[in-house]
Amino acid sequence: MADIFTMGIDIGSTASKCLVLKNGTEIVSKVVIPVGTGTSGPSRAYTGALEAASLSEDAISVKVATGYGRNTFEAADFRVSELSCHAIGAVTSCPGVRTVIDIGGQDAKALSIAENGTLENFIMNDKCAAGTGRFIEVMARVLELDVSELGERDSLSVTPAKISSTCTVFAESEVISQLSSGAPINDIVAGIHNCVAVRAASIIKRLGLVPPVYMTGGVAQNRGVVRALQEQLGVSITVSPLAQFNGAYGAAIYGYKQVLKQQESE
Ligand code: ADP
Repeated sequence: MADIFTMGIDIGSTASKCLVLKNGTEIVSKVVIPVGTGTSGPSRAYTGALEAASLSEDAISVKVATGYGRNTFEAADFRVSELSCHAIGAVTSCPGVRTVIDIGGQDAKALSIAENGTLENFIMNDKCAAGTGRFIEVMARVLELDVSELGERDSLSVTPAKISSTCTVFAESEVISQLSSGAPINDIVAGIHNCVAVRAASIIKRLGLVPPVYMTGGVAQNRGVVRALQEQLGVSITVSPLAQFNGAYGAAIYGYKQVLKQQESE
């Protein structure tokens, strides 16, 4: 039997992620471009993932687009909501998971997964930058740090700074005043993570916290946010090794299932 390649492309507000899957299980390539819908990101992620897999467009049986910008991707055979794709990705890589928290560039979502692995309910915060990657990026800029450094900084904090405002604009002013009063940068970083975690924990609690909890999305790569969220929730969190790619992974699995359905009906 010939190998079946499927593709998931997750066009987010902040980043474009594309992943190629072989026979529904093996990840052959994955590419992230740190710009999202309405930019060159989706097509760069798409061609990058094909190149990295050494495959032509025609070799892909099914392409599934997901994410905020999924309707803009013309080459898609299917368009599927990111909630469904995140649920499929999470359940596949973490069987038995009951709660998924996904923190991306401009939104945060909590998903509850039923015992049988289906998506049961969700809550999304997409109205406000607080509690999202955008909030962290704004603060990192003030601190002249890259977001990829923040996890390490957090682990070196002794007494996290208190940042009382959850509003991005006011919190930014607080960070600036903490900096000018000489607070250690690592403590400010930990304070920022605590602030994000309070928002994320509140949406999870509204949804109903049922362990095991799994974290996905670009911000899952920041172990300072994971640390703070674990403290807020009082449970341990498993971080998706695919983090930012979880939605694209779920989309590619969805695509594989469509190929199997087509084959069965032939
Ligand atoms: P979206 O789907 O909304 O575009 P993603 O799930 O792709 O969002 O996540 C994007 C967010 O991930 C951005 O806010 C970015 O700052 C953050 N991010 C990306 N890489 C890292 C990293 N190495 N460490 C921490 N945060 C990261």
